[in-house]
Amino acid sequence: MTSAIGRQTETDRGHTAAGFDVLAVRSDFPILQTTVNGKPLIYLDSAATAQTPSAVIDAVVRYYNNDNANIHRGVHTLSVRATNMYESARAKAAALIGAKRPEEMIFVRSATEAINLVAQTYARDHIKPGDEVLVSEMEHHSNIVPWQLLCEQTGAVLRVAPMNDAGELRLDEYEHLLGARTKIVAVTQVSNALGTINPICDITRMAHEHGACVVVDGAQAVPHIKVDVCELDADFYAFSSHKFFGPTGVGMLYGKFDLLNSMSPYQGGGEMIRSVTFEKTTYNDVPHKFEAGTPNIAGGVGLGAAIDYVNGLGIEAIVAYEDDLLDYATQALLATPKVTLVGTAAQKAGVLSFNVDGVHPHDVGTMLDQDGIAIRTGHHCAQPVMDHFGIPATCRASLAFYNTRAEIDALVVSLRKVQEVFA
Ligand code: PLP
Repeated sequence: MTSAIGRQTETDRGHTAAGFDVLAVRSDFPILQTTVNGKPLIYLDSAATAQTPSAVIDAVVRYYNNDNANIHRGVHTLSVRATNMYESARAKAAALIGAKRPEEMIFVRSATEAINLVAQTYARDHIKPGDEVLVSEMEHHSNIVPWQLLCEQTGAVLRVAPMNDAGELRLDEYEHLLGARTKIVAVTQVSNALGTINPICDITRMAHEHGACVVVDGAQAVPHIKVDVCELDADFYAFSSHKFFGPTGVGMLYGKFDLLNSMSPYQGGGEMIRSVTFEKTTYNDVPHKFEAGTPNIAGGVGLGAAIDYVNGLGIEAIVAYEDDLLDYATQALLATPKVTLVGTAAQKAGVLSFNVDGVHPHDVGTMLDQDGIAIRTGHHCAQPVMDHFGIPATCRASLAFYNTRAEIDALVVSLRKVQEVFA
């Protein structure tokens, strides 16, 4: 087996010298040492699901080997230990995104569930017929469809803020769409299809001037940039563990404490109640009010370990490394004949969407897979983005801090082979 660790250029070595030891980082990820179709794996699909370091895998195994029990309900040692581990992960998630207190963090299944939770609790309580929900043209379907469902349920109207051809939100248009009827503004911090980083502070300021509540989809932001929900002044903020090098099946919803406290519960069941009689049920305190039933405890513990891992690398070092790699990859793709980048915003993180003239993205993806290169092809759950550009799909190479310039070089070589085959 040829180790992918061996794939490095002089500039990769330069980064090692400059303080971000990408080769050491790669050795933390067992899957990056494997081969696919006989080639060292080149994983360029982290926007779909990021890979998981040994520290996270080990934490989950350790939890099951030593601590597994249901949480919050037991007086026995294992239950107390499991509860402490789970609650410590909540506190780590709060610190990660600058929440003022752990109670502002609700464990959910995913970013998708986090957004649905807000739509079906806070928003459903506050929206009347004729009110408006403002989303943007570049949202992932999980930040569109929950709002469409809400509109169907309440008679509210969905408005869409447009973007320009670089894939940047048009803030002038955004401002025009905001008004007294706008109750919810739902916007992604980083676009999964284009990589655009949106100016969330400007959006929350404008939205709050009109009295709207801002729900930020942070699924693609938290793994790549420093997030501070207080600086952003987000009312709600959603992200997923599996895009943050943690296990699947866990996500987090941040909400400002007073908002959470005033909201109706989401699902009913165990844990979310204070007392139950057939006549009247009263609800638990925030955040437990929103966490009915037994959660993904091991997943939460794993997310805690992922946060520790990322903190160990340092988000500033990660941002600097990824910015450089994105720049390198952008130049490399721009220099590749017949490749067109889709999404050329001035502020971007981690994502390169592109098309190869005359070749369907699925054919590109299938051929790259033969070279061990994993990219995503399709509409990336962002069909309105594809509609904007008049295309059905793109190829998407998405980066994380474990990718190298050598892998980008290999991508380009493989793309040239695709062009030869389809010439
Ligand atoms: N929002 C964005 C921007 C995403 O990229 C994704 C997933 O790709 C989601 C939301 C949904 O995340 P999940 O599938 O983890 O719920």
